[in-house]
Amino acid sequence: MNDSVLTPSPVLIIGAGLLGTSIALRLRRAGVDVHIEDSSPVAASLARDLGAGTIEPVDEPKVVVVAISPDVTAPVVRDALDRFPCAVVTDVASVKDRIRQDLLDHPGVDRWVGSHPMAGKERSGAIAADADLFVGRPWVICADDETQTAAMQTIRTLAVDMGATPVMLDAAEHDHAVALISHMPQLMSSLVAAALKDAPAEALDLAGQGLRDVTRIAESDPLLWTSIIHGNRRQIAGVLRGISARLGTVISALDREDVGLDRISSVIADGNSGVARIPGKHGGARANYAEVIVLIPDEPGMLGRLFAEIGDLGINIEDLEIEHSAKQEVGRVIVSVMPQQAMPLERGLDQMGWRVVTSETKQPIVIAIDGPSGSGKSTVAKAVANKLGLAYLDTGAMYRAATWWAQHNDIDLDDQAAVSQTTQTMPLSIDRDPNHPQFTVGEHDVTDEIRTSALSKIVSKVAVNLDVRAELVRLQQAIILEECTPSGHSEGRGIVAEGRDITTVVAPDATVRVLLTASEEARLARRALETRGSADEAAIADTRDEVLRRDQEDSTVSNFMTAEDGVTHIDSSTMTIDQVVDAVISLIPEGYRDN
Ligand code: C5P
Repeated sequence: MNDSVLTPSPVLIIGAGLLGTSIALRLRRAGVDVHIEDSSPVAASLARDLGAGTIEPVDEPKVVVVAISPDVTAPVVRDALDRFPCAVVTDVASVKDRIRQDLLDHPGVDRWVGSHPMAGKERSGAIAADADLFVGRPWVICADDETQTAAMQTIRTLAVDMGATPVMLDAAEHDHAVALISHMPQLMSSLVAAALKDAPAEALDLAGQGLRDVTRIAESDPLLWTSIIHGNRRQIAGVLRGISARLGTVISALDREDVGLDRISSVIADGNSGVARIPGKHGGARANYAEVIVLIPDEPGMLGRLFAEIGDLGINIEDLEIEHSAKQEVGRVIVSVMPQQAMPLERGLDQMGWRVVTSETKQPIVIAIDGPSGSGKSTVAKAVANKLGLAYLDTGAMYRAATWWAQHNDIDLDDQAAVSQTTQTMPLSIDRDPNHPQFTVGEHDVTDEIRTSALSKIVSKVAVNLDVRAELVRLQQAIILEECTPSGHSEGRGIVAEGRDITTVVAPDATVRVLLTASEEARLARRALETRGSADEAAIADTRDEVLRRDQEDSTVSNFMTAEDGVTHIDSSTMTIDQVVDAVISLIPEGYRDN
């Protein structure tokens, strides 16, 4: 394969470890002139022999990548800035602020761009290198006021050429983030594994996948990790202090005669909330997959057959885990699929003779209902949620709350950047009980205020702001996920969400997707009755602008007038509410209905 890349050539890589060699291999694959330096001639020659470039010196590299241990990165970057006065220099160390502080007084600091590709392996060294190591991974770039824009662009280009997604953060933000998502987990994994050091072998023989999952990263290199942890020690200490306080609570609860069960359950429930916030495999919100467990005999070819037969059923495997306990003749294959496909998969595999462990937990249901204003979405969505015992989310009210909040802060609704910025700070909380949906912004209960006709007339201005949409869509997806995950705060049975883009953007994988429409006359009459207490001519004329103009504006950012593939269109013009509710419920696939 010969990808074309835009990183300027030649490139000097200092450090022929896992990261440096992986970068070099990918650049070489695209024909870039790559030179490698390493304080160990053996390491440099190994990288060369793997095809990562030449070890001949280079006079004027355009880009220098310093890929060495964090504790020695700053002096080597300094040296590179001195040796190559025209080069852009980056480093890929996993801590950034200390290095930045060490370099601030260097006259060439504006050509240095700290970066951190968020990829790695348990194994280190050139031998583990892989040209595709960074594909689809975030690559943090820390530029600040000192950094030349062109230098920053060059390193962004390098990240993109590596197949990664550049993410701009400042150095301190980066260090706090990695303390949380990388350094603390490494220490916790090592601490758990260290507790097993002297454990009896019979106990370890019982180990299942849970222990393997928690200790998977405990095989990391002590020298490398000591250097990483030392470089970010303040941020890590802060995170660990929080954990230590929780741990203290757990231990003191356990020590008491009347064990403080509430404390323990709240730790587990908080864990549920935390894990639900980890994004999924494509970097977006974690999809709410359902798991189907298949027992397979420990025989050659079984996995291959299972995958082929799942393919024959037309079902896509979203994720997969294999559990295999020592001394057992069967393995458990946990197949994650879209929730609506769990039942067909269980049934299909059962018919093909596989041993399927029927999941005892009920599958959560997500019902997405879109439609124009006055189509009856809210009434129907609340009734469906009530009948099925699901949560209810009115996404329109979120756009209304954002409008209220912007006005409350005296923001000009035409100032798109300011509106989107205040939306990010909106302290919104939503009661998702379909019997009394309630919206609170900070101290203010805005449930009624956001329904006024004055607000209805201006809400579209906020709803067509794409940055506001991105933020509210993210919030809506998090709420849906929360309602599908059993925790201290939610039974995890699922949710009915209604709006304009739920079936298409917010929850395109929902169990049921409905577009609810009604004729213009029916919609105008319903809204006039609802907002003005009458459906006479004058009230309808009054309502016309509120409904039709708003739909017109809203339709510039989402399609809620025609049903997309997989979305069922229900025209409610001549149907009663009960009929529509029954029609929606009848769309729930078999197997979910006894929920
Ligand atoms: O449904 P409701 O009338 O409360 O929605 C208020 C406004 O919120 C809509 O006119 C539309 O501008 C916006 N909205 C949206 N996307 C959604 C829900 C509502 O843009 N999913």
